[in-house]
Amino acid sequence: MLHLATFSARLRAFMLLLGLLPVVLGIIGFSLFSRDRIIADAHGRIAETIGFQKRLVEDWFHEQSNNMDFLARQYVVRRQDEDGITALFLDFMATHPEVSGLVYVGPDGLTRVDPGNETGIDISDREYFLAARQGKKHVSEVLIGRQSGKALVIISSPVKDIGGRFGGVVFTVLPVNTLDSWLEDLRPGPHGESFLIGEGNVLLTDMGRQSELSRLDRIAGEALGAMVRAAENGKPYTGIRGGKTVVGATTTLKDGNWRIISEMPLEAVLSGVVGYTRLFALACLAALLIVAPAGWLLVRTMVRPLHMLSGYARDVREGWVDDACPYLDRGAPKEIIDLHGAFCSMVHRLEENTETLRRVAVTDQLTGLANRRRLEEEGIRLVDACIRAGTPCAALLIDIDHFKQVNDTYGHAMGDHALEHVARIIEGCCRGSDLPARYGGEEFAVIAPNADAAQARTLAERIRRTVEQSPVDNDGMPLELTVSVGVAQYSKAHGRGLSRLEDVLGKADSALYNAKESGRNRVCLFPQPDGA
Ligand code: GH3
Ligand code: MG
Ligand code: MG
Repeated sequence: MLHLATFSARLRAFMLLLGLLPVVLGIIGFSLFSRDRIIADAHGRIAETIGFQKRLVEDWFHEQSNNMDFLARQYVVRRQDEDGITALFLDFMATHPEVSGLVYVGPDGLTRVDPGNETGIDISDREYFLAARQGKKHVSEVLIGRQSGKALVIISSPVKDIGGRFGGVVFTVLPVNTLDSWLEDLRPGPHGESFLIGEGNVLLTDMGRQSELSRLDRIAGEALGAMVRAAENGKPYTGIRGGKTVVGATTTLKDGNWRIISEMPLEAVLSGVVGYTRLFALACLAALLIVAPAGWLLVRTMVRPLHMLSGYARDVREGWVDDACPYLDRGAPKEIIDLHGAFCSMVHRLEENTETLRRVAVTDQLTGLANRRRLEEEGIRLVDACIRAGTPCAALLIDIDHFKQVNDTYGHAMGDHALEHVARIIEGCCRGSDLPARYGGEEFAVIAPNADAAQARTLAERIRRTVEQSPVDNDGMPLELTVSVGVAQYSKAHGRGLSRLEDVLGKADSALYNAKESGRNRVCLFPQPDGA
């Protein structure tokens, strides 16, 4: 059986769950949905940045190549005027700080002008020289500088002499990290990084940062393949530096030989959604904090009066009926107030009816005196109380003389009236502590506690005399009545098997018999044994 306390605890837990569930679902749904969208947005932004970066790198190469073309076309170079070329180169380098070295190689493959370095070095077997001989410009693969250890690129343009023949080659050696600061300016956001990867998966730039990746590290082909796939699809992956999960984008350049990968830590990408989610969670929690006490109160408002009513009903069932209905808070729901009102008025009516029944059950209907049942129940208590207190106790049995004749002569209605008349007289003669009762038919009894034989006799005599002197009103023809009274005082010497009440009444009956025998309209006392 489910108790109200258990029910209300379950209801409260259920309400709490009901309040929390949308919050939790909301947070999960909100963060999942927003997370995917924010990652997709970030991927789009990085891809856009990469477009700029690609153009920047390609423009750079284009510009360097144009510079070499420009130098190769200069008159002093076509004339192979070494002093003129030296002056031209120095002048050019002064205005192009990113160009750290310019070299002119004669058609024989020996270096002729190389400011700051020795000349006459044979480079006729180099790729760029061979390309120049075929009249082609050339951009080398990434080379490692012998002294600097840096990644370098050689960009060259062929020279045509005055006669239009092959006149050697002009080339420059460019450190790739020149691109670092430019790429950094274009990186995706303050936490983002961009990496330039050359042929053979060589990491060319590191954006000038301290890194566990040293320049010219090669990235394992398999790992790079996985990164590239994730970056192309906009899926988070472990970034080039390792450890951190990133969102990236990638593109190729230089005919697919080089690649740029730009990355942003996932943490930085999601910092917005984390903030929003936290705000949303806080808002939900605040709402829950407001709603929960309201729900709590609602359950209390319903459960408390029911709990109280059930306690009251239990009391009623166990017989603890109290007229005062338990106080019900007016804030309770109307239905419960109605239930409470109906229940209380039912209990009230039940109590009234029970009281009436109880009274009727112990009252003689005709005379309104106690009936024999009450005489037996209360008489025993009165006699016992006297015995315990050591006080005397007496009983009177009163019988109307020749009552049959009253009925026979005046009818039963008159007989009833006479019975009521005598009952009032008996009642009037008794003390408040006495118990007058209708014993049966036209016989009455009085239990007189604290009265000894003499006092009881006096009472009996008063009753007898009053009846004698107070005829019943009978339409101007007064009906005279007399009574015979037997009186007995309780004594210890009572008959076997009889209760104390039966004993004293029996003795009074015996005295009554004597009164009848000795002529009626008199009081007889049951003889008092010595020392009783
Ligand atoms: P005695 O002096 O010897 O007592 O004679 P009695 O006629 O009073 O006694 P008896 O026992 O012969 O008659 C009692 C009568 O009381 C008989 C009965 O009809 C009558 N009676 C008993 N109860 C009632 C009652 O409630 N109403 C009426 N009207 N009469 C009653
Ligand atoms: Mg009688
Ligand atoms: Mg009689």
